[in-house]
Amino acid sequence: MRLRTHVLSSLLAGVALYPRAPRRVALLVAGGVGLDIDHYLIYALRSGNWKPLSAWRYDGWRHMARAASDTRRRYGPLRSAFHHAGVTLPIVWGLQLVWPVLRPLALGVTLHLALDLPFLRLDWRVWRRAAGHCERCGTTKRRLDVVYLVPPRHGGASWALENRALWCRRCRLQVFG
Ligand SMILES: [Zn+2]
Ligand SMILES: [Zn+2]
Repeated sequence: MRLRTHVLSSLLAGVALYPRAPRRVALLVAGGVGLDIDHYLIYALRSGNWKPLSAWRYDGWRHMARAASDTRRRYGPLRSAFHHAGVTLPIVWGLQLVWPVLRPLALGVTLHLALDLPFLRLDWRVWRRAAGHCERCGTTKRRLDVVYLVPPRHGGASWALENRALWCRRCRLQVFG
């Protein structure tokens, strides 16, 4: 998930939950955005560039499809163990048991991890449209999954129904390898 999305979503959640407590909002945003510090650190370590602004710009284009003329280096997935819910959620929810003021932080971190989840398979709009058939070959016999026709990391729309389809395993393998 883009950093921008995390900033906006945690800000909205913070204001909705704590309309009169700006400090709690700030804490929730710190949790919701701060988790991506691991991306920044891994980026800086791999690129040798510690300027936060460069990392922010990198985050802006690293998910886009690569044009032939694009020779900029890419540094792969920038996730550390902190992006595993099983590691981080027990830590933050444990901390807020000891220090209840940290609850907004725990909420922010939880929101962040939830947004990073692959919700694709749960898109009921696609399942309803496909009515149990593979939308490419029509089979009902194989395991079906929701796929992106143009993956978001290649510039496809993340949420648009037109960019999602219910395909069987074989079609997925044929097209995406
Ligand atoms: Zn993240
Ligand atoms: Zn198929």
